[in-house]
Amino acid sequence: MLLRLEGIRKHFGGVIALKNGNLSVDAGEVHLLLGENGAGKSTLMKIVAGMYQPDGGEIVWKGGKAGFRRPAEAARMGIAMVHQESLLAPHLSVAENIFLGREQRMPLGWVNRGRMLEAARRLIEEHRFPLHADWRVEKLSPAGKQLVEICRAIQHGSSLLIFDEPTSSLSETETQAVFRIVRMLRDRKMGVIYITHRLEELRSVGDRVTILRDGETVHSGPLEAITTQRIIQHMVGREIGAIYQRQPLEPGEELLRVEGLTRKPALEDISLSVRAGEIVGLAGLVGAGRTELCRALFGLDTVDAGTVKIAGRIVRVRSPREAVAEGVALIPEDRQKTGLATALPVGYNLTITDIGKVSRFGFFLDHAAEKRLAAEFASRLRIRCESPRQLAGRLSGGNQQKVVIAKWLVRGARVFLFDEPTRGIDVGAKTEVYEVMDELARSGAAILMVSSELAELLQVADRILVMRRGRVTGELPGRTTQEEVMRLATLHEGGATIAGEQE
Ligand code: ADP
Ligand code: MG
Repeated sequence: MLLRLEGIRKHFGGVIALKNGNLSVDAGEVHLLLGENGAGKSTLMKIVAGMYQPDGGEIVWKGGKAGFRRPAEAARMGIAMVHQESLLAPHLSVAENIFLGREQRMPLGWVNRGRMLEAARRLIEEHRFPLHADWRVEKLSPAGKQLVEICRAIQHGSSLLIFDEPTSSLSETETQAVFRIVRMLRDRKMGVIYITHRLEELRSVGDRVTILRDGETVHSGPLEAITTQRIIQHMVGREIGAIYQRQPLEPGEELLRVEGLTRKPALEDISLSVRAGEIVGLAGLVGAGRTELCRALFGLDTVDAGTVKIAGRIVRVRSPREAVAEGVALIPEDRQKTGLATALPVGYNLTITDIGKVSRFGFFLDHAAEKRLAAEFASRLRIRCESPRQLAGRLSGGNQQKVVIAKWLVRGARVFLFDEPTRGIDVGAKTEVYEVMDELARSGAAILMVSSELAELLQVADRILVMRRGRVTGELPGRTTQEEVMRLATLHEGGATIAGEQE
């Protein structure tokens, strides 16, 4: 047994992050650590890596009782962690980062750059990693940065490597590359703990699984012996219905039609159409042009050529204001930054896009009308909040998303552009978001939905358009397979985009 954690407890002020964390990992095993946001996964691993001190419980490392007071101490004992946010030194090279804190020094304390570069090169070559020792880390893609952290762990002879949600910012090809490396580390008898909340990726990488809920280990066992449905139940702590599958409906009139839309160099000759009642998925790798397409349709970016028709009428949308006037809504990827005023009350958020509807004489806010509207949409979308005066930032992820949607309904939008609507939302709440989108479609909206989670697009979309390098490379029916979508998304693509933008 490499590592055993027993009854680990940890609190931060009044917040109990862990009340009973248990987990054990063998050498040559990939151990999945699962749980909803806030379950305590990162905290438990930071305790193992010496970043936090536990309040209680036992850590057994290679057969002896242990406890690491500092990350450097854990690192010396052979424990390495690839963090959610990169901790590398951005302005230094790959080689320098691999040796950071353990530079090869010459007698007078000078760093021996030549030897370092040489050792880094050998390591990269031996593992055939798509990296160069002298590349600058700040220019690497997220996947490239992870590779550097993995190189660090290998170079320093770590026996346990912890990944904290490594693929949340990676494209599908990059994710596959990380999996290959994880399997390689396992074959070399390293222990790997792998945190993820993307359930569709579990089976391709794990041996055993531990599930945390509210700071407590609620299940531990071999991955083969448990169904995904059971895993979800353990994570959310209640029975949830069968995996969501939307019932398609008969589409109505064509609400959005795009022809030959071009914005150099991001978008090239895009044509598509979405009818009332339809949810059309936009799949593709990061950088394929999906977000750019949403921005162009919402008037945030100008276009070089092409036409856009809303409900059969050609429109020229040159600003978000004009898009809103045409009934187009954008729910951006980062709703906390751009879609929701988290520090303001729910009621205010619901009405802020259209003060006209709740003001008398143009400038006095009519609180009664605001309350009525907010209440109407809060109940239509089943927004769970204590009162319209509750701060939007206090709602759960799924309910925040509903507030953003309701806000557009107040404004009378009919064409909805959703950019990664469930990113960062828990499994339980995701289904709620799908249901709201379905309800929107049923009430006559046309929906274009960007998502990097293929499983989600297959569950929700009527049709899936696949984009690659600014073009639509294919269209698939909603009930297609992940493999088929991947084939179109990566066509002639070759390797991953580890290098980023090296000059
Ligand atoms: P997970 O990684 O499973 O999403 P975390 O371990 O990050 O969960 O968090 C568990 C709980 O502890 C959450 O309620 C979180 O808000 C809290 N928490 C984590 N780190 C800190 C910290 N440094 N200070 C205060 N609270 C924290
Ligand atoms: Mg975490």
